[in-house]
Amino acid sequence: MSVAENLNALRSAIPASVRLVAVSKTKPVKSILEAYDAGQRIFGENRVQELTQKQPLLPDDIEWHLIGHLQKNKVKYIASFVSLIHSVDSLELLETINKEAAKCGRVISCLLQFHIAKEETKFGLSFEEAVALIHSEKFKEMKNVKICGVMGMATLTEDQSIVRKEFRELQGIFTTLKEQDFNNSKDFKELSMGMSGDYKIAMEEGSTLVRIGSAIFGNRS
Ligand SMILES: *Cc1c(COP(=O)(O)O)cnc(C)c1O
Repeated sequence: MSVAENLNALRSAIPASVRLVAVSKTKPVKSILEAYDAGQRIFGENRVQELTQKQPLLPDDIEWHLIGHLQKNKVKYIASFVSLIHSVDSLELLETINKEAAKCGRVISCLLQFHIAKEETKFGLSFEEAVALIHSEKFKEMKNVKICGVMGMATLTEDQSIVRKEFRELQGIFTTLKEQDFNNSKDFKELSMGMSGDYKIAMEEGSTLVRIGSAIFGNRS
């Protein structure tokens, strides 16, 4: 199946309330253009270097999302154009994003990444760490970042009950933070969860942003 066919198939499986992030990591500009020509406008990359190489070669109306672990010293390379950073996992990183966004005269939208999987290797905050971050004086002074929701990755397992339980946990974190820490702010609205293998479960558990790569572009080598 072509990229356009894959996208069309996904679109009919995804309700209007859920936005699709096409994860184009490791894929060439040509494949991204195929998806663009089929109407896709939101793309996600997990590495800053790859993102900064591709971005200038592609149309200006693409919304670029950074979905992978972000090092503080690389924020400056994407601050001028990134639309949403899904992977904020420390107050220090948020401070750097705020500083670089200010230099560009922007407010950068961010999600807090939570560690919900069993694997040790996945990045992310605990609930307690997130609450401490949100109520810190430093965060309250930041004017150039906006926290729009949460992101998480489930354990890579065949056992769907584990995946569902982890997504449900993230949905619970989202709802609790929205009500107790963000005053039910309209801006706090995104629940980024679900990839090619588990996006259906994620949508059933309330996802608003699914990050899908291989089901659009084929397997990565
Ligand atoms: C690679 C990646 C995805 C997409 O994975 P697929 O299984 O190819 O859909 C989603 N989210 C993150 C954070 C990723 O790194």
